Amino acid sequence: SLSLSSLPIRVRPLTCTETQRGDRQVVHSLGNGTVHVSAARHNATFGFSTVFDAGASQEAVFEGSGMRQLVELAMDGFSCTVFAFGQTGSGKTYTLMGPLTQSESQPAAPGVLGLMQRSFACLLEQSRSHSSDLVLSASYLEIYNEQVRDLLSPGPPCALPLRWSKTRGFYVENQLSVDFESLEDIANLLLQALSVPPAGSQRRRTSAHALNRHSSRSHALLTIHVRSRTKGRGDPEHHPPTRVPQRSTRPSKQGTLCFVDLAGSERVKETGSRGELCVEANNINRSLLALGHCISLLAKPRGKRTHIPYRDSKLTRLLARSLGGSGITLMVACISPSSHCLSETLSTLHYASRARRVTTRP
Ligand code: ADP
Ligand code: MG
Repeated sequence: SLSLSSLPIRVRPLTCTETQRGDRQVVHSLGNGTVHVSAARHNATFGFSTVFDAGASQEAVFEGSGMRQLVELAMDGFSCTVFAFGQTGSGKTYTLMGPLTQSESQPAAPGVLGLMQRSFACLLEQSRSHSSDLVLSASYLEIYNEQVRDLLSPGPPCALPLRWSKTRGFYVENQLSVDFESLEDIANLLLQALSVPPAGSQRRRTSAHALNRHSSRSHALLTIHVRSRTKGRGDPEHHPPTRVPQRSTRPSKQGTLCFVDLAGSERVKETGSRGELCVEANNINRSLLALGHCISLLAKPRGKRTHIPYRDSKLTRLLARSLGGSGITLMVACISPSSHCLSETLSTLHYASRARRVTTRP
């Protein structure tokens, strides 16, 4: 079994808005994996295996978080998942994708590319190398208001059924999967999925509310399917053809690498959400609560575990395998250093301390 004890924490820098508002920095990385939170009525120290502070580059996060190893495990046929969690504006999307660019004409600088693009580059590099023969494809889903939608399907997003079978576990019926062979292909795929369609609002549900204009109102799951046939002994290139049909390659491996960008966990009151936004916020909170509940049950020793309520939300159903089953999961906890975010930061750190006790059996 494998534990999530490597769960890294990332503290982003104070933003201009926070600095202008006069927010104080209440989170300090003390080195050796310790995070210190100090404010008038709170003084707490948390220990983690890895803490990335405001100065940590995107490359440092890729190399130091275990992400590269996760990519390698996906190529070896494992089901791998990485998810970023934390309140809206804490740096989840930045960590996964880098700063959001609005169009193809202004691509992000290579240095700020996130875990996703760095992983794609890693996979594509491997697929071009002589020893492997990787076939890569992507599917992209969002969970919005407890509906699963395909972000790759053309036209307005429609809800897809989430089913369960004994062999596959939970799966989404009819989800599209698109092959890609270059960084450009996959970048365009993501850009299309997230871009503004001519008709109006953004494909992926985002709305401008008080806390963060780019905040995501849905959970987004990008899955890269990695099929590999390793060339080697038994390869037709090395043997003359025979009459007897033979298995020409070693058994193929099928791994997955899933990137989960969770919607923020902030309270409805603080974001000033009303009406439709309020329904969204409640759905988001409900699924994050379900996730938290599953994680705290999974964190108990195996013998003392009760039934894990994956069925409580679409999110936990989709993550069931990554969390408790045969998957390998990397969670990155994102926090803001600002005094304004103190209570959310503390709750993220508590959540992370619980989550690192979860073990799976890949
Ligand atoms: P979330 O996805 O958690 O809501 P974002 O990733 O959108 O948060 O980050 C909020 C803002 O902070 C964005 O403007 C983003 O570019 C910026 N930001 C986040 N993390 C960093 C970082 N490590 N370095 C620089 N800017 C960051
Ligand atoms: Mg985001």
